[in-house]
Amino acid sequence: MTIYDQLGVRRVLNAAGALTAVGGGLLPDEVIDAMRDAGRSYVDMHEFHAAVGKHLAELTHNEAAFVTSGCAAAVALGTLAAITEGDPRLIVKMPEGEGLRTEVVIHHAHRTPYDAAVRMAGGRLVQIGNSYQTFEWELEAAITPRTALVLWLDGTDMGHGGLDLATTVRIAHARGVPVLVDAAAQLPPHTNLWRYTRDTGADAAVFSGGKHLRGPQSSGLMVGTEAFIAAARANASPYQRLARALKPGKENIAGLVRAVELFLARDHGAVEQRWEAEVSEWAEGLTAVPGVVARRSWPNEAGQAIPRLRVSVRDAGRRDAVVAALWERTPRVHVLRGSDPFDFYLTPETLAEGEHGVVLEAVVSELVAHA
Ligand SMILES: *Cc1c(COP(=O)(O)O)cnc(C)c1O
Repeated sequence: MTIYDQLGVRRVLNAAGALTAVGGGLLPDEVIDAMRDAGRSYVDMHEFHAAVGKHLAELTHNEAAFVTSGCAAAVALGTLAAITEGDPRLIVKMPEGEGLRTEVVIHHAHRTPYDAAVRMAGGRLVQIGNSYQTFEWELEAAITPRTALVLWLDGTDMGHGGLDLATTVRIAHARGVPVLVDAAAQLPPHTNLWRYTRDTGADAAVFSGGKHLRGPQSSGLMVGTEAFIAAARANASPYQRLARALKPGKENIAGLVRAVELFLARDHGAVEQRWEAEVSEWAEGLTAVPGVVARRSWPNEAGQAIPRLRVSVRDAGRRDAVVAALWERTPRVHVLRGSDPFDFYLTPETLAEGEHGVVLEAVVSELVAHA
């Protein structure tokens, strides 16, 4: 019996995407095994972090890597790394950061609720541009002797109003300021693990372990230069400093390592083909329902090469009723509302083996019930 059954909490069939609110991702057995095995011994956490960092750096073609307790935690640690450069005399001044360079430049087009992690770590956000456009001179003018970092976000959901990463890196580095990329949900493609950093020159990039990597929900990955990662580590657990509050456990670290290994070893082409087949099957089943148009949509909401199904019902009331009724089923079925009031989306990516048929039955039955 799972704890969900024991406590009477309904399970969710997640056809909406990698979302923290429904538990992140599903862990492969190998990840669970790695966590269980790691939980059975004590270990020197400094030594473990160093060995894991070296292994993950090799796997991801970066100089260095570090496991955090999530991507938001990694953004906070990146902020602390940039402000303190790992100097213990400066680390103790955080989060107030009196007398330190604490400004973090961010494109208006890249603002998300997650950038609160910068402020939590003592960074002060300085916004440039607007949601449509940003000019190079705006970034140049925003960088001053108070600037610690430029935070750059990836994802088509970020809009196209920001400078590209190469331009951002060129302008920031010419002024001695590091660039951190928040790429929480930008896997696949797996090449993003080295594209932002090794290929484009960002100092570090951070990813959620609990989203597309299918690692522990409380895990994150930071990859980048030796200097930036060392500065992040100096702020982090097991040290008893500010970011001790963002501690990943040995089990989370072990699980994330296994998840990265599995992600890189995966036959991404075969997985994509399975997703395409499931989306086609859904499209066929749902097009048969009166008043419903169901079409493959690509890429997904985060700009990833993952197919999903767009279901249009041409009636906002019907859309909302169906989405709500799916959520109230046992188990719950979670689908994603589109920005268009008549649409919702189904993604095959986050479902477990065999669940796509159950989801199809549920969606058909609620569309019929709310005709
Ligand atoms: C999900 C997300 C985060 C937070 O990641 P966690 O691993 O849940 O801490 C940060 N930034 C962006 C852009 C995200 O999408």
